[in-house]
Amino acid sequence: MEEPLEILRKLGALQTGHFRLTSGRHSDRYMQCARLFEHPSESEDLCKRLAGAFQLGGTSADTVAGPALGGVIMAYEVARALGARNIFTERENGVMTMRRGFKVERGERVLIVEDVVTTGGSVKEVVEIIREAGATVVGIGAIVDRSNGGVDFGVDFKALASLDIKSWDEAGCPLCAQGIPMTKPGSRKV
Ligand SMILES: [Zn+2]
Repeated sequence: MEEPLEILRKLGALQTGHFRLTSGRHSDRYMQCARLFEHPSESEDLCKRLAGAFQLGGTSADTVAGPALGGVIMAYEVARALGARNIFTERENGVMTMRRGFKVERGERVLIVEDVVTTGGSVKEVVEIIREAGATVVGIGAIVDRSNGGVDFGVDFKALASLDIKSWDEAGCPLCAQGIPMTKPGSRKV
């Protein structure tokens, strides 16, 4: 079975080069998980593996919830693999909410998924919404954990891959120091 990071690389979801991030910092890698979901078959494969990891751990879920946008397609695929219901949360005036008539019942078992977990901020907001409704958060799943072990959700957290992406300000960038030209994100580099 192909390694998750290898699949992400092949699809251009994980790129190597010399990038200027939106923060202005420079990095040698660039992650755009949407490029995975561009390919339904690979998305299904990876989401199935994640669902399987929770099933092996004995976790059953009635519902899979993901925050928009990154968690929407992913939650759908994981829910399909688990035979569970699928909902998503989204921001309204900056506040994470459950809209569109989505509901969770008291005691319902909810698995929360997000494509990439960095600070875990959005996921924590979803956890709060689910708990406020009286449902139980049975776990958190991600394709990629970029938190470098720095996030604790207080529940079972599983990711298919861990990735520590380093970044530097321009003055401290070793790639700039070597005169390596900037890579345009989106260009596929295998
Ligand atoms: Zn640089």
